[in-house]
Amino acid sequence: MKTDYDLFIDGRWVKPGARFEVRVPYDGAVFGTAPKANREEVEQAIAAAKKAAPAAARLPSHKRHEILTKAAALMQQRTEDFARAIASESGKPVREAQGEVGRSVQTLSFSAEEARRNVGEMVPVDAHPGGTDRLGFTLRMPRGVIAAITPFNFPLNLVCHKIGPALAGGNTVVHKPASATPICGYMLAELFAEAGLPAGFLNTVSGSGGEVGDFLVAHPDVAMVTFTGSAEVGKHIRAVAGMKPVTLELGANCAAIVDADADLELAVGRCATGGFAHSGQVCIHLQRIYAAGKIASDFTDALRSRVAAFRIGHPLDEASDVTSLIDEPNAVRVIQWIAEAERDGARKLIGGERAGRATVMPAILSGTQPGMKAVADEIFGPVVCGEAFDSIEQAVGMVNRSRYGLQAGVFTRDISRALWAAQQIECGGVMINDVPTFRVDQMPYGGVKDSGIGREGPRYALQEMTETKTVVINLTGAPK
Ligand code: NAD
Repeated sequence: MKTDYDLFIDGRWVKPGARFEVRVPYDGAVFGTAPKANREEVEQAIAAAKKAAPAAARLPSHKRHEILTKAAALMQQRTEDFARAIASESGKPVREAQGEVGRSVQTLSFSAEEARRNVGEMVPVDAHPGGTDRLGFTLRMPRGVIAAITPFNFPLNLVCHKIGPALAGGNTVVHKPASATPICGYMLAELFAEAGLPAGFLNTVSGSGGEVGDFLVAHPDVAMVTFTGSAEVGKHIRAVAGMKPVTLELGANCAAIVDADADLELAVGRCATGGFAHSGQVCIHLQRIYAAGKIASDFTDALRSRVAAFRIGHPLDEASDVTSLIDEPNAVRVIQWIAEAERDGARKLIGGERAGRATVMPAILSGTQPGMKAVADEIFGPVVCGEAFDSIEQAVGMVNRSRYGLQAGVFTRDISRALWAAQQIECGGVMINDVPTFRVDQMPYGGVKDSGIGREGPRYALQEMTETKTVVINLTGAPK
């Protein structure tokens, strides 16, 4: 399996001026090498995407559909290689990495379907007195060159969520993968070339976020920026992008409510997954759990037993449930946030110790307070914080006490309470009888408040990545 890549520009592999090593976060072993692009190389990638843009816009929908379908099929065939790359560079346990490849296949397939239904709508122009004898409709026009900037935690599927809809809409793309996880991005570029994507439609350039990313975002030939990553970088991109349309899929400190009448076994099982998948490095990671006072201690005891059973190990070991964080500084930061919470009165019920290079043992904190970093900020580690509530109104208030609003969960058997909570919670999505961590790739997905702007899911991303053009025909001269 190839793990050393050059830049991918205009359908060719281009030797970079500089390279960096990509390491397995769990043990620091070198997995591969990738280019550290400079501005001239990024300029070449943008120029290639710009040159190809008219051809991409002209490519018929059935060809877009065919290429995306072929890419999905090739990915399915290469599941093991992609899973190995995801596990190695992001540290995701290989069973979860296989799941990510399966989801990426779905994301590309849904994008292929959307390519065939990228339609505008009829506009009833003559519904207005001034529109008599006029016929109107809209077209969905490609925006042109789209800059796609992606994070480390889903190095394949979140890239497919950008490239799939962008190509379905007739755009070209310059992709900048996260520095920790560039190999999956280059493997994807290679796969698309094999699937028949013409030169220049997809260009991949890895390098420093501050340098390559800023340059891309500000470049006058880039028509739109689609970004997934932290709120801090997202706000910066918004400021640099000026008038360009920007989609921002940002972070969160997602919460779930476990009401007194909930199916506790279901809630415990789902919370164990939502709280600790990929060591909590998931944007819809379950960070805050609000349990009704009556069942809080039973719930917490059951969750602690589940957490105690997790197996810690190397990401390529099929038996591992938990591996490591993306790097040592993040492990140190998570340990610090836990220590600060304990200092301010929280109790650690399990875990929270450093184990090895970048591994943090899965932790449950109770008695946390809203102002603690472990509660108020995005912890992006294997930590859940529990508090008890007295009423559903209070619980919803606790969920909304956040600068973020990505997804939330509500466990209850009472449909009226569930729907009331779904309406009141300030989030992009509310999952009933599930954790905020639930996502299938065709659903509309995105946040409010500091969790972002715009929606993904191929159908919704396609709307963001195309421009509405209105066409009105004056029929005044037609036979009456
Ligand atoms: P990050 O913000 O550090 O980096 C994301 C990407 O931005 C990387 O490619 C990085 O190189 C690039 N970047 C950094 N500085 C830049 C700049 N000045 N200009 C342009 N690009 C720049 O995020 P990360 O640590 O890779 O990922 C974790 C974050 O992503 C978390 O906050 C997580 O919640 C969020 N996330 C959100 C979603 C979602 O769909 N809402 C999904 C996954 C991850």
